Amino acid sequence: MAGCIALIVAAGRGQRLGGELPKQYRALGGHALMRYSVEAFLRHPRITGVRAIIHPDDRALYDRAVAGLALLDPVHGGAERQDSARLGLESLGALAPDHVLIHDAARPFPDSALIARTIDALASHDGAVAALPVTDTLKRGGANAAIAGTLDRTDLWRAQTPQGFRFAPILAAHRAAKGLALTDDAAVAERAGLSVALVPGSEENFKVTTESDLARAAARLPGGAWEYRTGLGFDVHRFGPGDTLWLCGVEVAHTHGLVGHSDADVGLHAATDAILGAIGEGDIGHHFPPSDAKWKGSPSHLFLDHAGALVRARGGAIASLDVTFICERPKIGPHRPRMIARVAEILGIELDRVGIKATTTEHLGFTGREEGMAAQAIATVRLPLGGMGR
Ligand code: MG
Repeated sequence: MAGCIALIVAAGRGQRLGGELPKQYRALGGHALMRYSVEAFLRHPRITGVRAIIHPDDRALYDRAVAGLALLDPVHGGAERQDSARLGLESLGALAPDHVLIHDAARPFPDSALIARTIDALASHDGAVAALPVTDTLKRGGANAAIAGTLDRTDLWRAQTPQGFRFAPILAAHRAAKGLALTDDAAVAERAGLSVALVPGSEENFKVTTESDLARAAARLPGGAWEYRTGLGFDVHRFGPGDTLWLCGVEVAHTHGLVGHSDADVGLHAATDAILGAIGEGDIGHHFPPSDAKWKGSPSHLFLDHAGALVRARGGAIASLDVTFICERPKIGPHRPRMIARVAEILGIELDRVGIKATTTEHLGFTGREEGMAAQAIATVRLPLGGMGR
């Protein structure tokens, strides 16, 4: 086979996004992240075949991610990215393409012109790398986080993928570099003395590494790619001996304490249940059974943090969380700003996404008789549409 084959490197275990899935399989607009880059190459008229390099454990995820697409059979990667790229190249030996483009699965938006530029450059060079000039001023850090110097950014570029190569020389270069730790395929080519061109990359061709990258990718999809879900939480704790209580993560002085297995933070318990409810994850007792002594006396921010992490693991975000305390005393108003700040901090969201309110029950019922406190909460969660869940 002559022509140009795209190798999609998808063997990484990178879970910096905090999810249970390697990031190339995280949900984006109803599909796995890697499907976008695979499709970009598949539909390009100058690409003759697309092959993914995957982790052996990920075969089922991969099959779902690329269902219905006409790819070459995937091959297994190695321990390091460089090993994976080499194994992908080795797998193409029988096909003997003229050119190969190596692309990271976590860059979902390589555009058609960028792919064409990279291939075009191979007419005059052994390799070609999509790259962008460095526009930020570069500082060298020194001791105690102080600046030790300012670097000259002239001639500095940020390398992206795809990185394109004439097939035979890059295969030989990778074989020669086996066992070395080089940061990209261009570095492997440079080490072998190949000529590698810089071709203009694209800001849209960013790599999804953080949750905010994933949100940026979702926002870029046409037609909006989010759904919104709402959950409700309600909790009650009885007053007992003590002179402080925990309310939404803030310790408040009072004539009584609240009794519970954990720290009895009725506000955070309601909030946690609201978030869990929005994503169909049961309730707080399911995740932190009261029968488990491990949670005795636990600070309830652990529970809320867990619920927030479950949302982030799905590529989602908490759009709003609103908590209402139901009690005669203590007065909530004076503590409201601290509670809002604490809840926002635990969840890693903006202050204006958190509401804290309180009402009395006009001295009626158990809260009116000050036998205990109740709290209710409602959470709205934004999730990528459809997709592979967590
Ligand atoms: Mg409770």
